[in-house]
Amino acid sequence: MRLFACAAAGLLAAVNVAAQPAAPVTPDSLVAAAKRAAGRDHAGTFVRICVAPDNLASAVPRPTPAAAPAAAPPARTVPDRSTWYSPPYKVFDDLYFVGTQIHSSWALTTSDGIILIDTLFDYAVEPEIVDGLTKLGLDPRNIKYVLISHAHGDHDQGAALLQSRFGAKLVMGAADWDATLQRPATAVGGVPKRDIAVGPEGQKITLGGRTVDVIATPGHTPGTLSFVFPVKDGGRTLRVAYSGGTAFNFARRAENFAIYRDSQKKMLEAAAAAGATVLMTNHTEFDRAYDRARIAQLPRTPGEKHAYETDTTTVQNYFAMARDCAEAQRLSMN
Ligand SMILES: [Zn+2]
Repeated sequence: MRLFACAAAGLLAAVNVAAQPAAPVTPDSLVAAAKRAAGRDHAGTFVRICVAPDNLASAVPRPTPAAAPAAAPPARTVPDRSTWYSPPYKVFDDLYFVGTQIHSSWALTTSDGIILIDTLFDYAVEPEIVDGLTKLGLDPRNIKYVLISHAHGDHDQGAALLQSRFGAKLVMGAADWDATLQRPATAVGGVPKRDIAVGPEGQKITLGGRTVDVIATPGHTPGTLSFVFPVKDGGRTLRVAYSGGTAFNFARRAENFAIYRDSQKKMLEAAAAAGATVLMTNHTEFDRAYDRARIAQLPRTPGEKHAYETDTTTVQNYFAMARDCAEAQRLSMN
């Protein structure tokens, strides 16, 4: 009898398991998972790509299957300086913010020169990057590499100046080079000459013993690059995962969302492998770079974390959120 009871209980348990199959993956369940992953740390980015994706309302079918970088605007327009100018800041021992209130540019210093990440709009490259580095006691002539996250004007219009004036080598995704070189010579900021083109397999850029792992993450544009690299905070080494393209500005097609989704998964894995505890992006709205750069100027109590340091879960949750937001959009189109 006891045996029977046990068998019956086992059967009941089996039935109960069978009666509760895994919930199907739906756009709603993915948005809910993304919302959980976003938490408060990534709430703004969650809204931008899960709640109100840029390409939801403005989608216009385009002839090419992959998103093409937008052409540079035809005329140079300079917004009121008070709406964008930021002083330069030393944020880590070896990483300096030379961006605007809206867009990031970072200078990673090494014993052999500077690796610069992203170059801002044309109007900002002189006051923020050239003058900013000088104000910080750094020499812009020491910029050896310029990494471009993707070929949109807010990140690449300063590239031609840095290449022609200082001889810096430009590193860009191969597909974004192709788009950049098609720009007219009159494009705002000029057209840089083809330099280092990164393919789907990625590349490592090493200078003065520092290595930036350049990871191909197509989606925002076909040649979007993301980065993983170490920084020092009071002599401690922290690892940064830098997302090179966030908004869903590309043509609203299922295959584009799949490309974006797969790139986020790739970055999640790269961030996990590196143990990254710092998440950076190229728009200050996504990583609060402008606020964190200023907070980093304040004294810290002993043991207090750097303003940019979170933990491995928070960093990986950013990419899990972005992956799930893209997959939610892809599924919603079927
Ligand atoms: Zn962009």
